[in-house]
Amino acid sequence: MSMNGEPKIEVGPQSRQGRIASGGFAAGPIVRLEPTKRAAATPQSAGPAAERAALVAALAHARHDLSDLVSGTTGEASDILSFQLALVEDDVLTEPAFASIGLGEPASSAWQKAVGTLIADYDAADEEYFRARAGDLRDLETRVLDVLSGSTQRPDLPEGAILVADDLAPSLFLSLPWDGRGIALEAGSATSHVAMLARSRSVPMLVGLGPLAVLPGERALLNAAEGCLVLRPDAETERRFNSRHAQLESIRQQDASQAKRPAVTADGERVEVHINIADPAELDNLDPAICDGIGLVRTEFLFHERHGLPGEAEQAEVYARMLRWAKGRPVTIRTLDAGGDKPIPGLTLDGEANPFLGLRGIRLSLAHPEVFRIQLRALLRASTAGQLKIMIPMVSIPEEMERVRALIGQARAELDRGGIRHRAAALGMMVEVPAAAVTLDLFQTDFVSIGSNDLVQYTMAAGRDSDAVAALADAGNPAVLRLVGMVARAASELGIPASLCGEAGADPRVLPLLLAAGLRSVSVAPARVGEVKRVVSSFRRERPRDRRQSLARRLGHALGLGGAGRG
Ligand code: PEP
Ligand code: MG
Repeated sequence: MSMNGEPKIEVGPQSRQGRIASGGFAAGPIVRLEPTKRAAATPQSAGPAAERAALVAALAHARHDLSDLVSGTTGEASDILSFQLALVEDDVLTEPAFASIGLGEPASSAWQKAVGTLIADYDAADEEYFRARAGDLRDLETRVLDVLSGSTQRPDLPEGAILVADDLAPSLFLSLPWDGRGIALEAGSATSHVAMLARSRSVPMLVGLGPLAVLPGERALLNAAEGCLVLRPDAETERRFNSRHAQLESIRQQDASQAKRPAVTADGERVEVHINIADPAELDNLDPAICDGIGLVRTEFLFHERHGLPGEAEQAEVYARMLRWAKGRPVTIRTLDAGGDKPIPGLTLDGEANPFLGLRGIRLSLAHPEVFRIQLRALLRASTAGQLKIMIPMVSIPEEMERVRALIGQARAELDRGGIRHRAAALGMMVEVPAAAVTLDLFQTDFVSIGSNDLVQYTMAAGRDSDAVAALADAGNPAVLRLVGMVARAASELGIPASLCGEAGADPRVLPLLLAAGLRSVSVAPARVGEVKRVVSSFRRERPRDRRQSLARRLGHALGLGGAGRG
């Protein structure tokens, strides 16, 4: 049963469960995207000169289409298309294709071979991130092949249509109208580019549904809020779907309408709600009044392999833009947190047996002072544009913060000598490693923010990227909550602010436990702010006399305050 007593749509013979890539609802006819059909037999070469000319023309055509698409996009969408645009002009890809043509291959198979080699490298990568990028290459492969074969595949999507496909190319996604429509992928990944695009455009999308036996035009219901696709629904299922949709939509609208109000508990205690940002384009249509500031900027986006290592001026401008957006509210920018599941070619270590326990976060930055120095200088320069807080990821021991403080001192002295404007910023640390959580009093830090995504995986020994141990990786586990409680108490004793910027802060089940553990500040994805404020408003601090009975029950002695029943 749902929160309001309405039964959820059950998974039955007509229903399939998938992973949620982007929440929302759609109801309408199935449109199946078939892989482009091409001649089964490899065409004969019309001779190297003609095939070469055909590939040159097809590449020019693809370049023209991609440039058109890029000009109408921003942020992540523009990045994806720019990546393809760069590739279509890259000798690494085109030279082998032209070489094969010279050896008598027709243009289409020469192109397929050249792209195929690169795709195989990406597909074989250990990291999900790189495997997801292979989709961008396939997209480009298809685009050029379609021009060569004279076929282009752009399906018609009637009102409410649910597009069913194995996977979906980002550029095809960007060329289709999505209002009121949805996506059901048999394969796909929730971290792929097309998933990110779907989230940023609020297009409901499920992935990993497995093979779907559906006919084009058959009706389906997509409940991507709860991970379910219903095929050939009967009248009763339609009724329940509509009722669930209406219910969740009304909650969502109510939450959105409350998003600008301050978060206050039922006892009248103020709770700060900040936002997490992974790409500055996310701020474009966002009103700063919905939050108390930015609690986490993941600067990894700047170090993406498409951009290379960003220069000081470029970084300073991006950081300053976010500070200006915040209109005086604090902006917490985290220094590069590469490594683990976020490799950066040429910077992170290849072949680590356990990258989550390896050279990531501040460990990597301290190992690459030449890269870290530029980021610190850029941050100090941007600091003149607002209230900047610099946050250090993956801190384990006090010496790491001492080294960072010394490097910041050096960077400031350099800027002074160069006559470059800059300003001091608060320096804080993330608490993601249990060692830091239990020894916080030993650290010199101006503020802390708990990174629950990592704190959970390191506390529970359950990888954040492993479905198989997802049940263990629970931020509501008493072990994690005790650490949160310890950090909140230690921060309060040290007189420094403590927040939490992992996913747990937006989990309606866990948030009350975090508040009970003593936290009064969280940082969450912008889309979750309204819901978080609603959950905060129904939280009530327990009276001392209730505490002995209920804390032990609700937190499983998580805070070590209950005492009742201990042997
Ligand atoms: C965290 O670990 O909770 C966190 C916010 O950092 P990231 O998810 O970027 O590792
Ligand atoms: Mg982390």
